[in-house]
Amino acid sequence: MTRIAFIGVGNMGLPMLRNLRAAGHEVRAYDVSPAALAEAVAAGAVAAASLADAVTGAEVVITMLPEGRHVRAAYLGDGGNDGIIGHASTEALLADCSTIDIASAREVAAAAGAAGYQMIDAPVSGGVSGAAAGTLTFMVGGSAAGFARAEPILSAMGRNVVHVGEPGHGQAAKICNNMMAGIAIIGASEVACLGEALGLDAKTLYGVLSTSSGQTWMMDHMYPVPGIVDIAASNRNFAPGFKAALMSKDLGLAQSAAADTGTSTPLGAGAAALFRMLCHNGAGELDCSAVYKLLHGDL
Ligand code: NAD
Repeated sequence: MTRIAFIGVGNMGLPMLRNLRAAGHEVRAYDVSPAALAEAVAAGAVAAASLADAVTGAEVVITMLPEGRHVRAAYLGDGGNDGIIGHASTEALLADCSTIDIASAREVAAAAGAAGYQMIDAPVSGGVSGAAAGTLTFMVGGSAAGFARAEPILSAMGRNVVHVGEPGHGQAAKICNNMMAGIAIIGASEVACLGEALGLDAKTLYGVLSTSSGQTWMMDHMYPVPGIVDIAASNRNFAPGFKAALMSKDLGLAQSAAADTGTSTPLGAGAAALFRMLCHNGAGELDCSAVYKLLHGDL
């Protein structure tokens, strides 16, 4: 049993927390949303009154927050308030599982290191369904010693825990994966529209795609036409899942990384532009598979 502080118990954090509880760990949760915190309590966590309260006495601190600015504020402090660095014991292992920009990940890891902590960036892939099933992939950036400490805890929430390199490399791998995922869900959406226009039955087309060279993880979990993939958000009026706003953020991070490194990513650039358009059309809080609605003319 490990004493874990879990900060950010939203769509991903909550099912991850459930798996930590199922593995017998003690969890103190903190979220700025009282509704999210109440769900964490229902899942067996103790509610913390503040971030400082959550991390006091924790052996491991896990954060699962939306963006780099939230992660910087949580670790470094905000408006004169101390953050996790300063309140957690320096014996605690710090693990940020959010998907954020590489510069923020490195800034926070450097500050943590300077204050005497071990810290890893450990973003995940597998979506809400993978978080619920405990089958996430963790991409870990940090020291070998930090990875070794984190591995048994992360294994309670995931199936693949991979040490990809130095601080920030977890985020680098994650950004590459999500650029691929963003392109793939647009591909599935375009094909669903084209198949319909050509008079193909949607279920029959899905059956062909899912056993042919066009098959992707995104279409098997998030097929955007309702009534085909049971767990897909399209069956719940596109309630997330993985929000379009978060996909848009990740595609923007990939474009910044491409610009920084001089890498040509024309499809990544197109995907980023399409998701920005989706968000500007008011669909940022819908699942990312709602890009189909934009292409289908339903927004
Ligand atoms: P979410 O918006 O559902 O949850 C984030 C939670 O953080 C919310 O409950 C919010 O209230 C809380 N929060 C925000 N600021 C806070 C603060 N300062 N202190 C405490 N709590 C705070 O988002 P999510 O879908 O759970 O995604 C979280 C991260 O995981 C993001 O970086 C996302 O890109 C990444 N991710 C999401 C998925 C997915 O399928 N949803 C998959 C892989 C990775």
